Formats: sequence, structure tokens, C-alpha cells
Amino acid sequence: MSRIVGIDLGTTNSLVAYVDERTGLPVVIPDRDGRRLLPSIVGFTPDGVLVGEAARRQLARRPADTVYSVKRLMGRGWEDVKDELRYFPFRVLPGEGVVRLAVGGREVTPPEVSAIVLRTLKERAETHFGEPVEKAVVTVPAYFNDSQRQATKDAGRIAGLDVVRIVNEPTAASLAYGLHRLGQGVIAVYDLGGGTFDISILRVKDGIFEVLATNGDTHLGGDDFDRVLMLWLLEDVQARHHRELDRDCVELARDGEAMQELRLAAEAAKIRLSTEERTTLTLPLAGFTYHRAITRAEIERLLEPLVSRTLGPCRQALADAGLTPSDIDQVVLVGGSTRVPLVRRRVQELFGKAPHSQLNPDEVVALGAAVQAQILAGGIKDMLLLDVTPLSLGIETLGGIVSILIPRNTTIPTSAREMFTTSVDGQTVVDMHVVQGERELARDNRSLARFELRGIDPMPAGMPKIEVTFLIDANGILQVQAREQRTGKAASIEVKPTYGLSDADVERMVEESFAYAEADVEARLLIEVRNEADTVLTHVERAFRQAGALLGAEERKAIEAAVAALRRARAGDDRDAIRERTSELNHATEHLAEMMMEAALKGALDTKRADEIMGRGSSREQ
Ligand code: ADP
Ligand code: MG
Repeated sequence: MSRIVGIDLGTTNSLVAYVDERTGLPVVIPDRDGRRLLPSIVGFTPDGVLVGEAARRQLARRPADTVYSVKRLMGRGWEDVKDELRYFPFRVLPGEGVVRLAVGGREVTPPEVSAIVLRTLKERAETHFGEPVEKAVVTVPAYFNDSQRQATKDAGRIAGLDVVRIVNEPTAASLAYGLHRLGQGVIAVYDLGGGTFDISILRVKDGIFEVLATNGDTHLGGDDFDRVLMLWLLEDVQARHHRELDRDCVELARDGEAMQELRLAAEAAKIRLSTEERTTLTLPLAGFTYHRAITRAEIERLLEPLVSRTLGPCRQALADAGLTPSDIDQVVLVGGSTRVPLVRRRVQELFGKAPHSQLNPDEVVALGAAVQAQILAGGIKDMLLLDVTPLSLGIETLGGIVSILIPRNTTIPTSAREMFTTSVDGQTVVDMHVVQGERELARDNRSLARFELRGIDPMPAGMPKIEVTFLIDANGILQVQAREQRTGKAASIEVKPTYGLSDADVERMVEESFAYAEADVEARLLIEVRNEADTVLTHVERAFRQAGALLGAEERKAIEAAVAALRRARAGDDRDAIRERTSELNHATEHLAEMMMEAALKGALDTKRADEIMGRGSSREQ
């Protein structure tokens, strides 16, 4: 079994964790000095690259060559980020495609910078285990799009890590609290980090997480807490010492070393005030030492407006999910800034229940990533047995072709959804035949279950929208549901696809699919052209009934001849002939189609719909 670690690649801090085999619990891997969080900061100096705490220390001295918050730039183009650049003291180059940074006399991409952070964590893990670590689960915010996720994977690859799974941060946090073991529930994950605030509403059912809504503020976090405290301290310094210190420095983050000192002192005081009622701040300034006592009540007055700003996005996310606070079953706190007691109080007030906070909020995402990693590595064998489907699962469609919804080797739990339609006018019943296997035709696969969806309103073929959902839970039970969208009529069935299936069966079925691959594809293609021919014939006949009388005698004859020719071809198995006759019929009916279009009967002769059609019928929508 190869080892997989879990990594939280954060905007402010990153960390790596794994599940301890003896205790079964996820733990963070510290560095040699016992530090658990690695600041996500990379410094480019003439002598080399600094990472983490060392880079953070040079931030004040070399602002233009020290990259932080690079997560904001991952997978993004210049247009996406140009409004954010005023926050960054390092240079971001304009141009096409992904952004590039000019730092330390060279150009680097955001994934390259993140790779440096990831490599540091990889090495940390390797030192801990005394062996190479090559695989990781890495977390990303739930709102990350494909290119941001891809950029995160690229960063892993550059660092020599195979990113076996990208997991949403709120999902990871829920995993760390074991919430995947809830049969079913709605979870609010409130994540207030260093520079960003995210609220996510998740639904968990049988071990599967679904993101119902996300919201937040990309520029609100602990850094802002530090900033208001710094401003307050500066005012105090000025009032008491009549010193002129440049406030703009604070705003612009282009601070000199004194300002950096002040920032660190402010952050340290803020952190102490999360557990203490009162603290003292000492700061050596030019020529004198500044002392100031500060209480919890004082800092809370300063933080109150910032904390309030997180509540709007929470309400919005609830509204978007169509929920009210009382629908939330569990609240999870994530991010170092949720250690602030005022934050906890406000969150508890909003959702009306005590949030989960037993785990360190700045570690919980990495801990959850470790749980996911362990599940993937096959080490967690309790309730949540994340397994893979040994064979593909699908349904039979028109002509006996299989339409796969869940491919073989998909990790379970999983779900898939696809739209189908009918192939016969006025069809009110659809046969659902659930099959398992790798062959192209249903009859060559294992038949798992059959059921019917009845009570569809009679409509022209191709009109009903039938949503088919496959859901495999953590125990490997497959639930298939078919639902006609207009009437809401639904039918479903449950089966255990692996029941009575031996390893030898699986092997044989996979081998056969290779052995018969060519013949299978031939058969499938023939059925597909026949299906297409049938669809066109159905549509032409319908159009003929409706508007045939409007055609000239010659045109009618031509169409009738084309219909007859297609019927003859269809009876044989010459694919090209069927395809040609189909296109000839399409051609012969062009004028008819135009007429119908003009007569606002559009849709009745939509020969383009001639795609895959389901058994006694339904067809996959394109
Ligand atoms: P990110 O997810 O953005 O990488 P983290 O979750 O690590 O960030 O949060 C970092 C923020 O948490 C920093 O602003 C830090 O000052 C703040 N923080 C950490 N511990 C505490 C604490 N005990 N009290 C208040 N704020 C804290
Ligand atoms: Mg975070």
C-alpha cells in the first residue's frame, strides 16, 4: 500500500497531515523545530529560495521578491486578477494566458511558487517517515473552478507529488469531524482564514458530500483584524508620543521594517487575546519603547464591524440553498481566525447551535485531507469503505445499446445523472434496464434490475425529459431513479451490483470486453445508424401527417421513394447504405421541414435529434 498524505495548501498557511495507523486518527506532521503551520510564503533571493517562516522574516526587507497569497493567482489570467494587484508588492506581468510573476530577477508562474511550498511539505513528510512520499490529497476552496483546480494539480506535479484527489476544503473539514458518518444532514462550514472568508453549505448523504451553496468575501480575514489593531495602536502612539507614523504604510502593505514589527506585535496580541482577557504589547520604536495594555473588550470593539461583515454572506448562502438557519444540523469552524471568541459567539447566534471546534481550526482542513487520503489508500475500513466499482454500470438504450453512467473503477460513494427521452410518439411507459459490464450491447452484460417508469404524459417522441440518477452509497448499494421532469413521475430501484459477483467473473467480463471489442463496436455503430434512421422516419411520418397535404404531388412522391429506400436499407446491415439513405431522406424533406418551421411547427421535424435512443424508448439528450 503506497502512502498518501493530506495537504492543505492555504492562502496564508499550509500543512501536511496523515492518519496514524495505530490510533486511526489524523495528525499534523511538524517540522524539525516542531512548527506545524508553514506560512505560504516564498522568498526569491540572490542566494536561493526561502520558504515559510524564513521567507516571512524577509518580507519587510525584500517585499518585491517575496511572494505571499499566491493562491489568489492560481489558474487565473491577467483579466481575472488585475483589480487585486494593488494588494501585492511583487510584480505580476500582464499578458495572455496564465499570469506570471517577476520576482528575484526571474519569471515564475503561480503553480511553480505553490510547488515550492508543496515540496517543503513533501520533504517534511519524508523526513518524518524516513521514506519517499509521492502521493497527496490536496484541498482547494469549494468555489475553485476547473482551471484553478488544474493549476493546483500542476503545482503538485512540479513538486514531484501525484495529486490523487482534489478535495473541497469544507468537505475536508467535515471529514475531519467524521460527519461523513452522519446518515444524512446539512452542514455549514464557516472558514475565516488570514485573508479570505468562505461560507459553504453542504449536504451529506450516505457518505457523499454535495455543495449546496458557497459565499464569502475574498478580502476579509485575520489580516484585517491585524490591520484595525495596528491603526488603533498607531493612533495611540501618536496621541501619547506625538510621533508621526505613516498610516498609509499600513494600508498599502508596503511597510518598512518598523511597520512589520508593529504588524507582528499586533498579530501576537490578537492571538493572545483569544485565550486571555488582557495582554500587554511591547514595541521597541525608534528611540523609545512603547508599552500598551489591551483588553478583550477593547479588541472586540475593534473587530465587531469586521465580524459582522461575515454574517451577510452566511445569510446569502443559506438563501441560495433555500434553507433557513434552523435547517442546519452541524456547524464547523475552520481557519485560524475562528479562534477569536467574538467570531464563535456570532456564528453560534446566527445558526442557533454550538459549532464544532474541538479540533484546531487552522489544522482541520489538512486533517480531513489526511482522512480522505487514508480512505483512498484503503486503510480505513470502517463504515465508509471507499471502494471502486469493479465493472461499469449503465442502462440499456434503444436497440440494446448500453449507455454507461458510472464507469468501472470509479471510487464509491459516487453519483451520476443523465437526461434521456422517448423514441415513440405518445409513449407513456419507459422500460429501465440496469446493466453491469464492459460490453457495448446490453445482452452481453450482466442484467442487474429492470423496472418501469409509468404515467408519462403522452407527448411527441423526444419531448419528455427523463432524468436518470445512479447513486452508489458507501456500502456499494446502487439506487437507480428515473424521473420525468414535467409530471414529476418517478420510479426507482435498489440493487447491490457486487452481489454474487466473484473476482473471477469480473476478470472474465473485462477480458471479454477486450476480446470482442471490435465486433462490439461494429454492432453498436450499426444499431446507432438504425436508430438514427428510425428517428428520421418517425419525424418524417409525423410531418407528413401534419403537412403532407400542402406538398406538390412530385415532392410527395420523391419523399415516399426516399422513405421506401431507407426502409429497405435499414432491413439490411450495410451501415454506409443506411447512413446515405438517411441523409437522402433528410435532403428530400428539407422543403417540408422549412414549411413546418414557417408554420411555427418547429420542433416537429427536428431530425437533428436523431441520436441515441433508449430501449422501447428513450434517448440520451445531447
Ligand atoms: P488560511 O486558510 O488563509 O491559510 P489560516 O486558517 O491558517 O489561514 O488562518 C490564519 C489566520 O488565523 C491569521 O490571520 C492568524 O493571525 C489567525 N490566527 C491564528 N491563531 C489565532 C488565534 N488564536 N486567535 C486569532 N487569530 C488567530
Ligand atoms: Mg484555510
